[in-house]
Amino acid sequence: MTDTKGKVVAVNGNMVSVEFDGKVSLNEVGYVKVGGKSLKGEVIRIRGNTAQMQIYEMTNGISTDCSVEFTGDLLSVEVGPGLLGQVYDGLQNPLPLLAEKSGYFLERGVYLPALDENKKWEFTPTAKEGDKVFAGDNIGTVPEGPFTHKILVPFGFLGTYTIKKIAKAGEYKIHDTIATLADEKGKSVNISMSFKWPVKRAVNCYAERLSPDEPMVTKVRLIDTFFPVAKGGTYCIPGPFGAGKTVLQHTTSRNADVDIVIIAACGERAGEVVETLTEFPELKDPRTGRSLMERTIIICNTSSMPVASREASCYTGVTLAEYYRQMGLNVLLLADSTSRWAQAMREMSGRLEEIPGEEAFPAYLESTIASFYERAGIVKLRDGNVGSVTIGGTVSPAGGNFEEPVTQATLKVVGAFHGLSRERSDARRYPSIDPLDSWSKYKSTIGHNLVEFARNVYKRGAEVNQMMKVIGEEGTSLSDFVIYLKSEFLDAVYMQQDSFDEIEGASSVERQKYVFNKIVEILGSDFDFEEKDDARNFFNTLRQNFIDMNYKEFKSSDFTKAEKVIESTLSSKNAQVSNEAKKLLKDGE
Ligand code: ADP
Ligand code: MG
Repeated sequence: MTDTKGKVVAVNGNMVSVEFDGKVSLNEVGYVKVGGKSLKGEVIRIRGNTAQMQIYEMTNGISTDCSVEFTGDLLSVEVGPGLLGQVYDGLQNPLPLLAEKSGYFLERGVYLPALDENKKWEFTPTAKEGDKVFAGDNIGTVPEGPFTHKILVPFGFLGTYTIKKIAKAGEYKIHDTIATLADEKGKSVNISMSFKWPVKRAVNCYAERLSPDEPMVTKVRLIDTFFPVAKGGTYCIPGPFGAGKTVLQHTTSRNADVDIVIIAACGERAGEVVETLTEFPELKDPRTGRSLMERTIIICNTSSMPVASREASCYTGVTLAEYYRQMGLNVLLLADSTSRWAQAMREMSGRLEEIPGEEAFPAYLESTIASFYERAGIVKLRDGNVGSVTIGGTVSPAGGNFEEPVTQATLKVVGAFHGLSRERSDARRYPSIDPLDSWSKYKSTIGHNLVEFARNVYKRGAEVNQMMKVIGEEGTSLSDFVIYLKSEFLDAVYMQQDSFDEIEGASSVERQKYVFNKIVEILGSDFDFEEKDDARNFFNTLRQNFIDMNYKEFKSSDFTKAEKVIESTLSSKNAQVSNEAKKLLKDGE
């Protein structure tokens, strides 16, 4: 605590005004003393000798005679071994321990150490005395679950340090000194396996930022082929209730080609969060067969918890992601939902009586959202390793209206947009990502021209479908009708995917490429159809043939059998691949 003395002069919801005597800085953490408890808050505005603080707890009971203490520290998280598998609240309190301590209703003002201070870790030094090191450099390792956790020089260290002493291999606790470093002036400082880092400050101890052009494969065909995400990229998923957001998040967490997944559940209904909490430990990591939790961190903040900690949840999540990126790992951060965070911002802005922007959101909504997503990125570290943070944020626009400010602000900064459609989820076409509205700026794992060819058939088919709603099937030409059937076929056998089947739910890149080529062949083929019913029956059969194949292990004998069935269905209508499609397939682009 600093010497600064503070006293509450006004309370407005979870914002309190504090008159202070001494020095206070923006984003400094302070504690309001009430009824023997200390409630954590953060300074968000300073006017003269009055500081406005947002309080991360319920503020009932706070009155104008409460005193306030200031810490001189920014809102920070503790990083070090032991983060994986944890379930935290927005302030990095381990929730299971908190619940143990305070019972069913979480008590205010109870803050617990984020990492187990007594657990011993098997440390192996990788640097030696005399080595010159910089912030973020690796000086030793400990095994953590399936990973080699790298012990890093704290990110706040400025300039060159020389290692004076480093611990021998052996068991240490996170706060034991493991090395003594000397700065450029020869001043010594002890470091341990953990340190603190302010959540609102992006970690930038890398050599260079790379451009995100390596795909982050999700094994969801519609995403990887049509709306890909890159490692170190950003994407957003607006998802109305029941549209399949949770299922999509779970499949992504399980199958995405990343090392670590961090879920920041901010402000969603308690029921949904409980769903995540109960389901996650049950999920198996397909790579290791062990619990997915071993490489997951959940940060959890329900709609019934104080709104200010929603913001903290998002920042805590991204900071932990940056920490693991610094070890050369690929991390995926799923923030659910950023709309709830924006609502918290709106509430606080109102209390501060700031000039409101659109729909009463603060004028800085866009820049805040932008600077959050900017913390994603793929970077080259000083040791040559590459690590990435990919951010996927859900948005829950009221009434599914994508024109509202939060969706719009997000769309400006993300690299891919997976808009979930109510219409598709009602039709049980999962994943319900809208094939017409969604987009991505990243490179697909499949050749651009092939994807565009299929997308074009899909679009034209959708147009025919619209037209048919007006003029009916009778007024539609056979050739238009076939385009419609082709687009429906593409949708049914490729865009839609059953997440609950082990094989069908996770399609490798190799498999996607293989199957997509077949589909392009079909979309680009002419058939001998006499009439519409003829065409309809044919595509119904073909669809079922393909779906059968989708459930067979890739290139197994059953898969080959299913392929043979498809071939015979195709030849029954004398399928002739057009020259255009032949050329596309030959180029493979
Ligand atoms: P949300 O989180 O958007 O409210 P959910 O993810 O809970 O929606 O999805 C609602 C229901 O839709 C699920 O319980 C499931 O039955 C179905 N569903 C969603 N996605 C899929 C999918 N990819 N495959 C099969 N069924 C799905
Ligand atoms: Mg859900």
